[in-house]
Order: sequence, then structure tokens, then C-alpha cells
Amino acid sequence: MSASKGTAVVTGASSGIGAIYADRLAKRGYDLILVARNEERLKDVAARISGTTGRSVTILPTDLNDKASLAKVESVLKENPAITMLVNNAGFGSAVPLLQSDIGKMVEMIDLNVTALTRLAYAAAPAFASRGKGTIINISSIAGIAPEVLNGVYGGSKAYVLAFSQSLQHELADKGVRIQAVLPGATATEFWDIAGFPHSNMPSSWVMSAEDMVDAALAGLENGEVVTIPALQDAADWETYEAARKAMSGKLSNVNPAPRYGIKAAQTA
Ligand code: NAP
Repeated sequence: MSASKGTAVVTGASSGIGAIYADRLAKRGYDLILVARNEERLKDVAARISGTTGRSVTILPTDLNDKASLAKVESVLKENPAITMLVNNAGFGSAVPLLQSDIGKMVEMIDLNVTALTRLAYAAAPAFASRGKGTIINISSIAGIAPEVLNGVYGGSKAYVLAFSQSLQHELADKGVRIQAVLPGATATEFWDIAGFPHSNMPSSWVMSAEDMVDAALAGLENGEVVTIPALQDAADWETYEAARKAMSGKLSNVNPAPRYGIKAAQTA
């Protein structure tokens, strides 16, 4: 067995993308702390991975939408110096349009996809920065840059994850902390059943396996990417998009409203 690379905390590890991250990270030499609500499934994932890799795998059955339970995971991230990686993966989506959506469900989505993810990053980042070492992987979605494709709150929550990751990278890169935002396209998991639109409804040519998605995302991490879009065939498309955003960012504050609004200048003191 290879030397440990430290411990990776993987949220949403009971199924889908998170369970594959757990498997691949253990094979790369990480011990694991696995977080999700379903204890039986976590036990199965943990037994399978420790059996095949010999790595230490601990489960932490947790509802991340319960504040007190979330706080326990935050404490683990703050206090366990063996932790060198956080995979902020737990999340859910919806294909239901705004007018048919239940606001309670939408807030639950924000609580998990945004608030829990943020609190866990805030627990891990200072610990990683103080040790000058650590990696935070945040699972966003292509819906973060294509918010028209699914439910608007889902797209909004994933846009947050992308912007938050870019900002974390800006602040933490020189402190030895690696940040990666992963933007999966359609991936064959239970996500789609929970979202109310099973992936069998889509052409199979759109849907990647969770194994390929995670393997590509980890290859992107190893190549030093801050933003990884496994399905995007030509990386130049993302680079062009980012270059346009950065070129515009210097033009977004001005004493004068743009001429197209027809407002006379000199309304500010
Ligand atoms: P999935 O199989 O449904 O996995 C979601 C995971 O999150 C499960 O392990 C689930 O476990 C956990 N989870 C849900 N609510 C939770 C809560 N309140 N507390 C703790 N854990 C919770 O779907 P997936 O596709 O692997 O999704 C993983 C991530 O990828 C999500 O953030 C999703 O938005 C993102 N993503 C997926 C796709 C796709 O096409 N599949 C595309 C883009 C992005 P329990 O039920 O046991 O709690």
C-alpha cells in the first residue's frame, strides 16, 4: 500500500459522483471521511473501498441541511490535521420550472448547494492555509454557465459555486491551497431521478458515465486546471469565454451611465 496522501472528506459520497470520487481518491492514496445522509449506503461504499484499497475509510452519516449536524462536519475539518482535501460534492437539482416549483424545496436546494458548501469551505480553507497545503474541489455544473437548461434556482446555485471557487482561487492560491471548480454536464446518476427528469429521457450521446466524469475531473486537477468542464471538447472555448469576461471586468464601473440610457452626466456630487 502506498503512503497516505492525507485524508479527503467527500460529501455526497453515498452514491453517484461522490462515491466515484471516494473510490478514485482511495486508489490514489487518500484515507477517507465520507459524508451523506444514508448510513447503509455509506457503509457499503466504505466497505467496498477499504476492501479493495486497504485505506482507512470513516463514515459520518450527516444531513448537511441540519445546522447542528453540519457544524459537526465543520469541526472535523477545522480540527483534524490529517485532512488535506475537501470534495464539496453533495447537492441536488430540479428540472421543475419556477412557476411550478415549491419555494421550500428551492430554499432547501440553496441551503445544501450554497450554504453547506460555503460553510465547509470556510472550515477547511483556514486550516489548509495555515499548513500551506490542501485542496478544495467544488462541484458546480454546466448549469452554472447555462442557467436556462434546468431549474433557475439550481443554475443560480451552481453559478455561485463557480464564482465562489474563482474567488477562493484568487485569495488562496499563494497560500498553497488548490481550488478546483468542476462543471459536469449531464452525468448518469440518480441526480436526474431526484430532479424529476430521468437521464434516459436524453440522447445517450449527451450523458457521461460518473466514472469518466470523475476520472476527467481528476486529470484536470492534476493538470492544474482551476475550472474543469469534462464534456467541453475544446478547451479554447472556455479560454475565449474567460478572456471576454476578464476584458469586460475593467469596464464595469464608471461615473457616467452608458450613453444608450440617455441620462445627462453630472448627477453625482
Ligand atoms: P446523486 O447520485 O443524487 O448524489 C447526490 C449525493 O448528495 C448523494 O450522496 C446524497 O446522499 C447527497 N446528499 C443529498 N442531500 C444531502 C444532504 N441534505 N446532506 C448530505 N448529503 C446529501 O447525484 P450526483 O450526480 O452524484 O450529484 C453530485 C453533485 O454533482 C451534485 O452537487 C450535483 O448538483 C452535481 N452535478 C451533477 C450532474 C449530473 O448530471 N448528475 C451534473 C452537474 C452537476 P444521501 O441521499 O445519502 O444524503
